[in-house]
Amino acid sequence: METIVDSVDQSNLPQLIVFSGAGLSAESGLSTFRGKNGLWENVSLDVVCNYATWKQNFEAVHAFYDARREAAADAKPNEAHRIIASWQKRWPGRVQVVTQNIDRLLEEAGCRPVVHLHGEAQLMHCVECDLEWELEGTTYDQSGCPICHRKKTVKPGVVFFGQPAPHYDVLYDLVSELRPMDTVVILGTSGKVLPADRMFGHSPAYSILVNLEPGRDMDEMAFNARHYGAATQILPGLTDEIASRMDASHRGA
Ligand SMILES: [Zn+2]
Repeated sequence: METIVDSVDQSNLPQLIVFSGAGLSAESGLSTFRGKNGLWENVSLDVVCNYATWKQNFEAVHAFYDARREAAADAKPNEAHRIIASWQKRWPGRVQVVTQNIDRLLEEAGCRPVVHLHGEAQLMHCVECDLEWELEGTTYDQSGCPICHRKKTVKPGVVFFGQPAPHYDVLYDLVSELRPMDTVVILGTSGKVLPADRMFGHSPAYSILVNLEPGRDMDEMAFNARHYGAATQILPGLTDEIASRMDASHRGA
């Protein structure tokens, strides 16, 4: 039987988007891609994450993502992941969790659903028949595609540079629908891959940046609020402000 809660139209209520990047998982021990000591300082982007060249670098690509899964298997969600999950539970259907991260620490903390803009390391993808499947364990055994049986067409289910990112449409839809009553928390991202300043800072929504330190790749003054420091330290203090915006009574935008 449908409950009253299920049938309430929530579209006129304030919404929250939590948009995260590698900085969110850094405190769980997963290296950021671009920060100091980031992954890319030791491995060339063009070798392991480029859609034009990945087949030529097949062994290196799979070795790199095997190592990423190995690292992720040992990582645990941190307080920031858990707080985001608590927001999503507190305002059902009104909190969109969108991440550039390929790990599943948000899910492990209890977030559902999570939009993974750049795919997930635990998925495998056959570019020939477009099959996507869950990898058992951390190491890809290179046994090939279960459907078309090709071997050299199988890559990690991670969006490479130069590869279409289907979930970007979800993101653009969310951005285009933002209203002044809505809130966006931008967390742990340099803005180099996706321009969070242009998407959220210049949107009608109230935008809050949470990064370890000021960066040079975004116009950070475009955000309504900026907090610099560890996300696990800053997020607990944001809950009251977010609650006052989410629970405020609004008559239209
Ligand atoms: Zn296939």
